[in-house]
Amino acid sequence: MAGTPHNKTLAMFPKVRFACTLCGECCRRYWIPVTHVDVARIAKFTGMRPRDFLALFPKDMAADWDEPVIKLRDGEYYLVLKKRLDGTCIFNKRVGDKLICSVHPVKPNVCRYYPFIYWVENGIVKFEVYEKALGYCPGVGRGGFANFRVEISSINESIRAKEEFRRIINNWNERVDRGLVKASIDEFFNYLEGIVDSLNKGS
Ligand code: SF4
Ligand code: SF4
Repeated sequence: MAGTPHNKTLAMFPKVRFACTLCGECCRRYWIPVTHVDVARIAKFTGMRPRDFLALFPKDMAADWDEPVIKLRDGEYYLVLKKRLDGTCIFNKRVGDKLICSVHPVKPNVCRYYPFIYWVENGIVKFEVYEKALGYCPGVGRGGFANFRVEISSINESIRAKEEFRRIINNWNERVDRGLVKASIDEFFNYLEGIVDSLNKGS
């Protein structure tokens, strides 16, 4: 299926039934990569300092993620949300037998789109069901056909945020390469929180 949303972005999406059961399995199963824009929104919504809900996941332990790699003096990392010891996301909240998202209005874009993923090919945004979700996500195949309204409405902003975040991390990595910073975790979070603060002050 293809469509042209109001922002004139050409997009293709699958015809698939989906209704989230709020089982929380995707929140438990994955590390959630975030951009500075995701971080700014969550910080504003929760009042938390970014370093209190963020973690750095070692690149060596990850599959080949399409996310910016952060250089620190002891290795390379991806920026993700913290998890609890039982594997649930720091923002999961149990309500009865459901695991809901306590930052739902501002949750990161990857969460907003899940179990769908997107990529851009020849200027067309293509959505597909994440292959691995087919094996365990009980929401796929339930309810009405997914309409992609939410995903389409934020896709340009999501693409922009990813590009900008890549530039921000490249800039950090250049400082590390040139020996301008000691490249400690604290220093990285100071750098990131400065950017997040100015984003939130300007919004
Ligand atoms: S997207 Fe799927 S796995 Fe995630 S909470 Fe909803 S039903 Fe469960
Ligand atoms: S931010 Fe919300 S939706 Fe995303 S993994 Fe955490 S609890 Fe789940």
